[in-house]
Amino acid sequence: MTLIVYSEKCTGCGACVEACPFGVLSLEGERLVIGEGCTACGACVEVCEAGALALAEAEGPSPRPEVPPDGIWVFAEQRHGRLAPVTLELLGEARRLAGELAVPVAGVLLGDRVAELAPELFRAGADKVYVAEHPALAEFVEGPFTAALTEMAARFRPEILLAGATYVGRAFIPQVAAALRTGLTADCTAFAIDRERRLLLQTRPAFGGNIMATIITPRTYPQMATARPGVFRRLAEPYADAGQVVPVELSSLQEPGPCTFVGTVEEVRERLPLSEAEVIVAGGRGLKEARHFRLLEELAELLGGAVGATRAAVDAGWIPYSHQIGQTGKTVAPKLYIAVGISGAVQHLAGIQSSDFIVAINKDPDAPIFKVADIGLVGDLFEIVPALIAAIRRDRG
Ligand SMILES: Cc1cc2nc3c(=O)[nH]c(=O)nc-3n(C[C@H](O)[C@H](O)[C@H](O)COP(=O)(O)OP(=O)(O)OC[C@H]3O[C@@H](n4cnc5c(N)ncnc54)[C@H](O)[C@@H]3O)c2cc1C
Repeated sequence: MTLIVYSEKCTGCGACVEACPFGVLSLEGERLVIGEGCTACGACVEVCEAGALALAEAEGPSPRPEVPPDGIWVFAEQRHGRLAPVTLELLGEARRLAGELAVPVAGVLLGDRVAELAPELFRAGADKVYVAEHPALAEFVEGPFTAALTEMAARFRPEILLAGATYVGRAFIPQVAAALRTGLTADCTAFAIDRERRLLLQTRPAFGGNIMATIITPRTYPQMATARPGVFRRLAEPYADAGQVVPVELSSLQEPGPCTFVGTVEEVRERLPLSEAEVIVAGGRGLKEARHFRLLEELAELLGGAVGATRAAVDAGWIPYSHQIGQTGKTVAPKLYIAVGISGAVQHLAGIQSSDFIVAINKDPDAPIFKVADIGLVGDLFEIVPALIAAIRRDRG
């Protein structure tokens, strides 16, 4: 679609200029000027009372630029020499997508003295690793990271660029997408390839988790997306021991940016991070009081697991937010997930869908959690959980 102006009808009232979400409309005297970047969204057409604006089919579809040469990139997030788990998960997923497109996978390391992490990226699925080392990249600061990744993507031109939807990814990846003038789908939970159109299908929950939206970037490159940690699977077997390391000299980091790194304040974390736990015992409003979480801690301890919670339990102040699982909390993928006194709202289920085996304990036989549970125990949690604890203790002598 394209935006057209009937100048003879335009009164120069400026309502369209105010309504334009992209700020591309302006008035020169009474003449309306359409600047670069108009997406033909139609917001201006809706507010034009004079009927001076309309959307029309462009003459033929706008041509898609030639496919860029450099395959799939995964931003390799690391902190103090430790790769974020989502990086390894995304490399596993990138391998699957790369198989469909017949392109290579590259990891992108930004930091100061980070080249030693390259072998880990090769094992996780990368054919090639770009390494940009600079003192300005020693700690995460949005400006230098945006400048560095933008410069590298503009120079080497990946077809797809993926990153984790972590605090780091959420902070700077949208700025990279804006600088490259391409689209970005945030917080994806599934990817696929439309081979015919050679498009990355980017799926994420939308409208409060009530629908899954599949989004495409049909006209610009790279096709960019951030992905939820804990959703995608790492490769089961190491991919390679070595590969091509490409050191990159950056020209965009010469000037000091407006922000400086001051220091890090460590978050008070749960003993075993939820994202790494193979067993999670999670509690909801059914626990009724903060002190009853002790029961879950006891069960989790016996099973070598961690304690999670619903938003209802967190909002009640029974357990810190770092334990919250779900759409606005963490996404987890344990081998065993025990849901105790949890109804199974869609927003909670969004965070546990990758669990291997789900056990639900709830006194309401119609609770939605039973629809996703592999084993459902209908009854009072205050009887079932102590009985479970006693049985495990007895079993272990
Ligand atoms: C935009 C948005 C984002 C959200 N994000 C999240 C999120 O990230 N995570 C999340 O969890 N929620 C989230 N929510 C909230 C979500 O909709 C639910 O309200 C919440 O998950 C319900 O928590 P619950 O299961 O603990 O409580 P309830 O729905 O109240 O369920 C309590 C359950 O306990 C059972 N029960 C009670 N007593 C006992 C007993 N003695 N023995 C056994 N069972 C018992 C009841 O039968 C009931 O099924 C979000 C909501 C919105 C709108």
